[in-house]
Amino acid sequence: MVPSCDPNDKEGGLKLVEDLTTNANGVQQQTLEEILAQNLETGYLRGFLNGSTEKEMFKKNVPIVNYEDVKPYIERIANGEPSEIISAQPITELLTSSGTSGGQPKMMPTTVEDLDRKTFLYNLLVPVMNRYVDGLDEGKGMYLLFIKPEIGTPSGLTARPVLTSYYKSKNFRNRPFNRFNVYTSPDETILCLDSKQSMYCQLLCGLIQRDEVLRVGAVFASAFLRAIKFLEDNWKELCSNIRMGNVSDWITDPSCRNAVLNILRSPNSELADLIESMCNVKSWDGIIKKLWPKTKYVDVIVTGSMAQYISTLDFYCGGLPLVSTMYASSECYFGINLNPLSKPGDVSYTLLPNMAYFEFIPVEKSGASTQGVDCNGDLSLNCSLKHVDDEEDVRGEAVDLVEVKTGHYYELVVTTFTGLYRYRVGDILMVTGFYNNAPQFRFVHRKNVVLSIDTDKTNEEDLLNAITKAKIFVEPLGCLLTEYTSFPDTASIPGHYVLFWELKMKGNEDLPDLESSIMQQCCYTMEESLDYVYRRCRTKDKSIGPLEIRVVKHGAFDALMDFCVSQGSSVNQYKTPRCIKSDEALEILNAWVVGSFFSKKPPLWEPFRIEAK
Ligand code: AMP
Repeated sequence: MVPSCDPNDKEGGLKLVEDLTTNANGVQQQTLEEILAQNLETGYLRGFLNGSTEKEMFKKNVPIVNYEDVKPYIERIANGEPSEIISAQPITELLTSSGTSGGQPKMMPTTVEDLDRKTFLYNLLVPVMNRYVDGLDEGKGMYLLFIKPEIGTPSGLTARPVLTSYYKSKNFRNRPFNRFNVYTSPDETILCLDSKQSMYCQLLCGLIQRDEVLRVGAVFASAFLRAIKFLEDNWKELCSNIRMGNVSDWITDPSCRNAVLNILRSPNSELADLIESMCNVKSWDGIIKKLWPKTKYVDVIVTGSMAQYISTLDFYCGGLPLVSTMYASSECYFGINLNPLSKPGDVSYTLLPNMAYFEFIPVEKSGASTQGVDCNGDLSLNCSLKHVDDEEDVRGEAVDLVEVKTGHYYELVVTTFTGLYRYRVGDILMVTGFYNNAPQFRFVHRKNVVLSIDTDKTNEEDLLNAITKAKIFVEPLGCLLTEYTSFPDTASIPGHYVLFWELKMKGNEDLPDLESSIMQQCCYTMEESLDYVYRRCRTKDKSIGPLEIRVVKHGAFDALMDFCVSQGSSVNQYKTPRCIKSDEALEILNAWVVGSFFSKKPPLWEPFRIEAK
């Protein structure tokens, strides 16, 4: 049964946190029993368990799996076979995740009941936040939230991202306090599929209600910064709408338009003048604090790959606390941050033991990664270079939630209520300590991911594949690509992928004459070869800028190696890092750059299709 949490009941909510964390082990065992009892007759589990709900049997017989192992089952459901092959409860939707498999987004099963489980976690965030910040009920939240396109599967199920699914549900419409208009964005503006109209209207509503706003946010830091950039580009028009008491003609979505007009009731030149005076300045240092002066914190995830945005956010937000409240995925919502005002580099998440049955594969960090590369991305402290080959080695059997040890690293495995059994999520976590009996985890990184700007997650293989296709264009010039690396450039908004290519002529060390059109073709080909989510972000959402190739002279990567060795890398085991994260290493490579080229057009993108079988 899905537990409930009344977000109005602060004491009750905090007691729930105490109970769940004190009885973490008991709740986990109950959760597993419940999942197994419910799904024992599914085709998948029957094959392994033969009617037993014993945990020992489960651990002995049910294999730990990757997406490729469960994909055939999910595809069968997408093609119309009954849910019971994996889940006793009907699979009502497929959630498209940011990982890809064979060029298609991964799809995770979900059920109606799981919406309630998600709601439980969202509701629990309310008392936890109220414990640390007073008076949040005296004002509004400006949350900039967006939906993405969805498709139908051959069997008639909908496939869409998890947040799109949630925002379109009645659970979201009925979310705590929504009927009291405590959020500045009307639901209609969030549910508008045209992301430009949606963004414009949400910012307009946020500006009109600026005096009431006590917190601002988006899901991820990248989306919040995109909103700031949008504001930079559109504040004059927004002010003009406020001044005239009207909405621009290009806002054509009728429900969006009406919802905004309901808030923008009459012309307000005083407010327009004030906002204009704040925006019409050279530096936007602290602009969030100026425009929304009562804001107490910025609610955006800044852990994992989002850590690269912390300094830019600090600049615009004038040092307001950046709060990462939760850790979740398409497979399952995992946990919450019980100490929301902790500094970004110190954020830990407590997995809620009733959300799923969690297991942890111990991993040993080795090579460059032992320095804690990517640990909440505190770049100044430790992130130097990342090489995926020397990530972590699996060490031993998967252990239970309460068996993990402080300071150790683990890969997360989940058994959900929705048809995933012992599924490797692909996230590496480190135990930072315990709250009561529940471990708390720092998000270290997602396995294999080298580049990420928004919700894209590009791994080393994707990158190599894209480069292999692109370099074909320089080979006829007698040119060799001898080395490459990359880095996510987030100095401007939106950020973009930068590739360093070391090129030389066959037979000597000279650099060929580089024709811009050929190099631009290389950039475009790389973008075309990157995965579905990259192309959606780049072409549809415009949350990633054009890919750039910086050509460096022969010798650049030797200089990089010398630097890495001076930083402690072993000469014998040295491998070129495929993603550069330290400023010094970047400076070294930039000093060798002889030409920089950008993709001239966005890659093709269209909603994927699931072929009927
Ligand atoms: P998706 O399935 O596309 O929703 O992506 C889920 C993944 O996003 C997780 O498995 C993590 O790798 C990452 N993620 C989600 N929440 C956080 C967080 N709070 N901090 C860092 N990474 C996160």
